[in-house]
Amino acid sequence: MADKPKYGRKGQEWHPNFIEYMEFIANHEVYQGMPDAFLDGNKIQWESPSNRKSGKYKDTRRKRLDWWRRKGVSVGIDPNSTRWISKTARLIHPTKHKPCKRCGRVMELRYVYPSNSLNKRVKQLSYIDDTFPVVAFEHIESLVTRLVESFGEQVFSALPRILRTSAISPPELEPKLEDWLRWIEEKYIPGEPSILSPGAMSNAPDRFDGFHSFNQCCRSEADRGRNKSNLQSYTTDRRVFEYWTEGDWIAANRLMGQIRAIFGGESCLNGHPGPCSADHIGPISLGFTHRPEFQLLCKPCNSAKNNRMTLRDVVHLKGVEAKREKVISWHSQALWDKRKHSVADDETARRLSKLLRDNRHTLMSILRKIEKAGYLTFLATFLELQYAEYTVEFTNLKVEEHITRFDEVSHILRETNYVKEQKARRCRIAFESLLDYFAKGTRNAFVVSTDAINSKVEATLCALQQSSDTIKQLDLQIADILANNSETTIDEEFRAIVDSIPLTTSHNFVVAKQELKNAMALVAVELSNQWNSDRYVRAESDSDIQLEIKLEI
Ligand SMILES: [Zn+2]
Ligand SMILES: [Zn+2]
Repeated sequence: MADKPKYGRKGQEWHPNFIEYMEFIANHEVYQGMPDAFLDGNKIQWESPSNRKSGKYKDTRRKRLDWWRRKGVSVGIDPNSTRWISKTARLIHPTKHKPCKRCGRVMELRYVYPSNSLNKRVKQLSYIDDTFPVVAFEHIESLVTRLVESFGEQVFSALPRILRTSAISPPELEPKLEDWLRWIEEKYIPGEPSILSPGAMSNAPDRFDGFHSFNQCCRSEADRGRNKSNLQSYTTDRRVFEYWTEGDWIAANRLMGQIRAIFGGESCLNGHPGPCSADHIGPISLGFTHRPEFQLLCKPCNSAKNNRMTLRDVVHLKGVEAKREKVISWHSQALWDKRKHSVADDETARRLSKLLRDNRHTLMSILRKIEKAGYLTFLATFLELQYAEYTVEFTNLKVEEHITRFDEVSHILRETNYVKEQKARRCRIAFESLLDYFAKGTRNAFVVSTDAINSKVEATLCALQQSSDTIKQLDLQIADILANNSETTIDEEFRAIVDSIPLTTSHNFVVAKQELKNAMALVAVELSNQWNSDRYVRAESDSDIQLEIKLEI
């Protein structure tokens, strides 16, 4: 058998996703009969430039133009009408998705990506501030969903203004996300509105599939820069996914967004004027759950808190717990239960905070061992991806004594692209932060380790060996995604597999999780015994605080 053909020059090899796509297209029945499809047997002739004056393939372009003309006629497109060839390319494309030759990012060929002027209209809404991230090349349906998730019903009245073009006037629809998404999918996108653009422009017959090889992401240097800075602005809310905490993260994220939108004028817990941001009363970095209850803190108070609790916070959390609500994640429960009653003032509240921080360091080191052993599907079950399948509504949302309150939260099943995107994003951030955790120079990290703890971790790994072949296969797939990909493709690849991650856990996962809980219970004993040690009692020096800031943000 012949060697696999190589594409691109050294140092500028074409992205493997793109080559896989080329092979798919060149062998697809839709493109059967494409003239000069293969060079010397097996290498695909992807390009047919217009400047060939001689040689065996000098007529390829002209022959392909004829092919496109016949193809257009066969699908009912008049080859004398305007843009007939790009219309044909878009219509016949078997998947309407294409990876970028340079970076591998898969984008839609339909008109789904907001242009700058659409993004500008969004930014002009009175309730949008800098903390609402502009995401590069976000699908219009995801953008609309995210707006509604963050800012609620008021968004619907702005949508006609945001989406209007000279050719398309949005209809009057009920303030229902589902109805809007259906209209966007069935009417708006097919109308190719001028304020949306496709993932790649058509250029038939230059390229085999009729599209530019570079997607919008890599179309020019300027775009690459924009892309990068937009990806960075994503970091505003990635923290909520970094610590492997439990809780209804969809409801909590939704409420966090609404605080900015609705309660911007409220004053801070300590009496300062707003604008305020959402403070998790129990910091998620200390293992508390990401749940829909926040207190309002102004910026200076929020950074002064710096992931440490006050007596007031601890008292509040114990009160919530008394109402049978889960305030702390499984991995930190044992330590919290051992020491929450020892907190009598702000100093002891800080002490418990520091103990919980070391509990987190230890947790992350244990999760890292499981990751290194390759049991990635098991880890993914901690991410509670099922929450993404619902959107939430709060009834009678208000702020009382600087804390959010509502009468009821309702969950509504949704089936949109956004579900998978949210799941993929949570997976990416959680796994990336696990892989990076000890790379960040955590000088101050104290990891608890004893023989007894290690043997519980061993027991966990042992249970995980019993996984089915399907799970082992999925483990390998996730490892592949994490090993090979740039940020632009990793979400895409997670999207393809997130629905295979089991929601109900098999017997060996249940056993493994129990062993892991046992390990964390032993960690809690060790840390709790340190309650009076210097490390936790002494006041933190400035350098400690500096270090924490680096670590947390
Ligand atoms: Zn690209
Ligand atoms: Zn304040």
